[in-house]
Amino acid sequence: MESWTNYHNHSHYCDGVDTLETHILSAVEKGVLSLGFSSHNPVLFENKWSMPQEKLPAYLSELDALKKKYESQISIHKGLEIDYFPDNSLPIQDWKKVADLDYTIGSVHFVGGLEDGTPWEIDGTLSVFKKGLLEIYQNDIQKALKDYYEILYHMLEHDCPDILGHFDKIKMHNCKEKFFDETARWYVKLIDELLEQAKDKHVIIEVNTRGIYKKLTDEPYPGIPFLKKIKNLNIPICLNSDAHHPKEIILEYENTAKLLKNIGFKELMVLKNNSWQAVGFEETGIFYL
Ligand SMILES: [Zn+2]
Ligand SMILES: [Zn+2]
Repeated sequence: MESWTNYHNHSHYCDGVDTLETHILSAVEKGVLSLGFSSHNPVLFENKWSMPQEKLPAYLSELDALKKKYESQISIHKGLEIDYFPDNSLPIQDWKKVADLDYTIGSVHFVGGLEDGTPWEIDGTLSVFKKGLLEIYQNDIQKALKDYYEILYHMLEHDCPDILGHFDKIKMHNCKEKFFDETARWYVKLIDELLEQAKDKHVIIEVNTRGIYKKLTDEPYPGIPFLKKIKNLNIPICLNSDAHHPKEIILEYENTAKLLKNIGFKELMVLKNNSWQAVGFEETGIFYL
């Protein structure tokens, strides 16, 4: 029997499709021992994926009830994937208090604004990606990436979450068209600076398998060269699938755990008794006592 954790799950409360309970039952069946929900937090503008503000109380109270209902089978955690904007009206740290969360994932999905005033979605469709790149950056990808990584850096520096979400997800568009070279010196430098900040802030970096099973990337977010740097810097990691459907809860976990072991990682972070703990793992799961 495999034993896993996953702190990155989306349900019908945001852009997932299923109920929280269906995710839990599926997770139990797959041998997941510790499961966290991370709906996209409500934001102040319309978009297709965030949880509407009016659904937040139900999301939180349903999670409290399910935590109790399934406590003998699985440990459930209440989180949010929070969109970071440098001028956030409610900082990540305040979200944690206001919503009484067990943990937060901080992610950047939006950079700058399009001509019509809407925020530019950097991991939406290819056409939206191209539109923003042209309208905001006159197709200067280096400038766009500099802004993207600056926002991530700013988040770690000023409003650090528990988990840094899919930090190189912007590379997903390279699968259709080569926008930039991930080994270019200027790009690697941006990542190096971010990782130094991550180390200082003791943030957990998620290793996110979604790009692989959605066939957008060959490697997780973050990619292998950056995982090696994370290992050398001794930054803690956790394994997440960013599931938007119960069938995705542990997709690509075995391969990714094998990859992490080959790179030299020996532990994954697990949320246990309200604190993050480092736990050993192998290809078939974590050593969770
Ligand atoms: Zn995300
Ligand atoms: Zn997500």
